[in-house]
Amino acid sequence: MPTIDIVQADITTLAVDAIVNAANSSLLGGGGVDGAIHRAAGPDLLAECRTLGGCPTGEARLTGGYRLPARFVIHTVGPVWHGGNRGEDALLAACYRRSLELAAAHRVTSIAFPAISTGVYRFPPERACRIAVREVRTFLADRPLPEKVVFCCFSAEDLSRYEQALAESPDQP
Ligand code: ADP
Repeated sequence: MPTIDIVQADITTLAVDAIVNAANSSLLGGGGVDGAIHRAAGPDLLAECRTLGGCPTGEARLTGGYRLPARFVIHTVGPVWHGGNRGEDALLAACYRRSLELAAAHRVTSIAFPAISTGVYRFPPERACRIAVREVRTFLADRPLPEKVVFCCFSAEDLSRYEQALAESPDQP
């Protein structure tokens, strides 16, 4: 049975096969978790990212993890929140799905996600959390990999939000 864990941590410290980066579409680095990942991985990560030619919103790209404990970084581009009428929910859901598909294709057994889009991109955190939990649960229900998904929360608020969402039954609206 696959497991879903929740931790409060800096995602760059996690010893999992892959960490997910909430990147921007250039894939050339930025602030927030993106900046932290590039700082911890070192300059070779940026060099590999330069070869990728960017990434559209809602899609994902895989690179090495370089100096990170994680073997891979999966860069996904979350939507900027514009009020909810520009397909933000579907795009955020696609980020989780596409990241998990890439992970499974690379035989990743454990993967950690940050709360994509909820920082500089201003996606409402509660709404984002529900989408994240729903997409991960749906994916794991009929795939053997990854075996473990970690929701990496940066704040105590996010930690309790994810704990509550996971405690709720999957069929609750
Ligand atoms: P976005 O541009 O997608 O909104 P941000 O990096 O601004 O991305 O924020 C996404 C989430 O990542 C926020 O919840 C933020 O608190 C969190 N975050 C920032 N730094 C880290 C880190 N080192 N590890 C884990 N999560 C982080």
